[in-house]
Amino acid sequence: MPKPPARSVPAPHTVEFIGSFPGRPPEATGPEVAFAGRSNVGKSSAINVVLGQKSAARVSKTPGRTQSINLFDVQHAKARFTLVDLPGYGFAKVPDEIQHRWKGAIERYLRDREALRLVIVLVDARHPPQQLDLDLIRGLQLAEIPCQVVATKVDKLPRSKAKGMLTKLARGLGMPAVLGLSSLDRTGVDALREVLLKAVRDRS
Ligand code: GDP
Repeated sequence: MPKPPARSVPAPHTVEFIGSFPGRPPEATGPEVAFAGRSNVGKSSAINVVLGQKSAARVSKTPGRTQSINLFDVQHAKARFTLVDLPGYGFAKVPDEIQHRWKGAIERYLRDREALRLVIVLVDARHPPQQLDLDLIRGLQLAEIPCQVVATKVDKLPRSKAKGMLTKLARGLGMPAVLGLSSLDRTGVDALREVLLKAVRDRS
């Protein structure tokens, strides 16, 4: 039997930029979902495609530039939430001192953020598990903060091997599964929107 077409999940009605905060962002006004990942992993592109916006998040010409925490107010037919764009980490050309500052900003945000429902951890689908990603995932697990790993740039994987590579990546990261995403051909966009909506609608 032919597979039924996958259900498409619409983009939010409105997306409003709340602000860019080098330190701790203001108190939450509703449920939050944070996006984290190594610099250049495709985080800004992922945020833009999920929000259905051309340039809500700035796709970086120079990796490692975004140092602040950016907040977006997202109004969807079925939910309203805040999307939190955390600074990209692990950019080799940034001095240790600045790397440290970013790590501190991310950790301070993640600590005691009661409104935080989910952290999307973005990793490059082509690379084996990286220590900084493993550290973040482990930290989230210890703090009992739900996280979903999203493997970016899946359009760059050989089609016949993609599924196996994602399974292997999930195993290496100690996750039950990872979600494949391509901001170019839109693979996984609906699934990621579903994950976000489910997280912000679950009050448990
Ligand atoms: P960020 O630093 O994590 O915010 O990453 P960006 O979104 O700025 O993307 C970094 C680079 O990866 C840019 O050159 C993007 O065009 C590219 N990129 C991002 N997402 C994808 C994707 O899904 N597929 C491919 N092939 N390239 C991507």
